[in-house]
Amino acid sequence: DLDKNQSYKNLMKLVDKTKVIGVRTNAETPGDAEQGARFGAEGIGLFRTEHMFYGEGSDQPLFLLRKMIVSKTEKERREALNGLFVYVKKDIKRTLGVMSGFPVTIRLLDPPLHEFVPHDKEKLVQLSKELGISMSVLNRRVLALHENNPMLGHRGVRLGVSYPEITEMQIRAIFEASAELVQEGKKAMPEIMIPVTCSKNELKNQREIVDAVYKETCEKLGVKKIPYLYGTMIEIPRAALKANSMAEEADFFSFGTNDLTQMSFGFSRDDIGGFLPKYLDLGILPDDPFQTIDQEGVGELIKIGVERGRQTKPNLKVGICGEHGGDPESVVFCHKIGMNYVSCSPFRVPIARLAAAQAALLFPREK
Ligand code: PEP
Ligand code: MG
Repeated sequence: DLDKNQSYKNLMKLVDKTKVIGVRTNAETPGDAEQGARFGAEGIGLFRTEHMFYGEGSDQPLFLLRKMIVSKTEKERREALNGLFVYVKKDIKRTLGVMSGFPVTIRLLDPPLHEFVPHDKEKLVQLSKELGISMSVLNRRVLALHENNPMLGHRGVRLGVSYPEITEMQIRAIFEASAELVQEGKKAMPEIMIPVTCSKNELKNQREIVDAVYKETCEKLGVKKIPYLYGTMIEIPRAALKANSMAEEADFFSFGTNDLTQMSFGFSRDDIGGFLPKYLDLGILPDDPFQTIDQEGVGELIKIGVERGRQTKPNLKVGICGEHGGDPESVVFCHKIGMNYVSCSPFRVPIARLAAAQAALLFPREK
């Protein structure tokens, strides 16, 4: 209930006047967006769309997603995607509406598809009944999704390249939701974000879909223009190194420092517990690099990414949406190197705002 306390509100007003860098919230559901907005977020820096498939109150989105995933033909996939579209558009429309004109960065589907399919026998039997396919066929299709190293596998933009129809459905939902809000007299500012990229050509590939759907949606809804930005996450070291050319195809960059840390150190973000305490004890690492940006290594890559990106596009918008976006020391770093915003989970937004104000008082921008 802090947002009802007058002294807190006065302090935060001063904080927002002082800070230079924007503070947005990460969100997995429209509910998170509401929470973040109450904590003073100026938009959403990462809307993780995959969570909407777990739908609030309905099993249907997850069922349709699973149906799409185990479909054999593009035609079957498209049928399931047409059903999914309704739910995806509804969630996006609600989220854009909550942020009423503040930017909302919507990340296209990121996780490897096997993550959405049940692995225990009972649930698979149930799914085979619901889908009307035999267990042996279902087992075969689920097995085909297996990867030895899924976090380095068929995920992020690679899904969009393999299955353009998935990208198409999401983009259509974003454009229709935005255009409808505007037609209803409200505001919407979507930013389409492509995950796990490492080359300009991936961005070009997906942009062709965006351009085609944009044209179709404008015609269908009878509108001349739908405002939006198109950009990418920078979460693979190669993407930071290739920022010059990546920026040719992007209006903005958002540093995904969870994956960027994982891929730079070669430490699995899910299994660090085995050796990290000893590393910290011995001083091999000063801090947990998944909490505070490792300025000597990962931070160097981020700096390179920002500098090279802005060599191509001086006004390139740059933010961060990994967990570090809510860590005060990391927020100061982001401020110093000239990022436009940080984005973090809703409950960390007030701390990030305070850190941003402190950074502005103590440190001039390097750029
Ligand atoms: C990241 O990798 O930093 C990121 C924000 O994406 P996710 O945590 O969803 O992989
Ligand atoms: Mg990531």
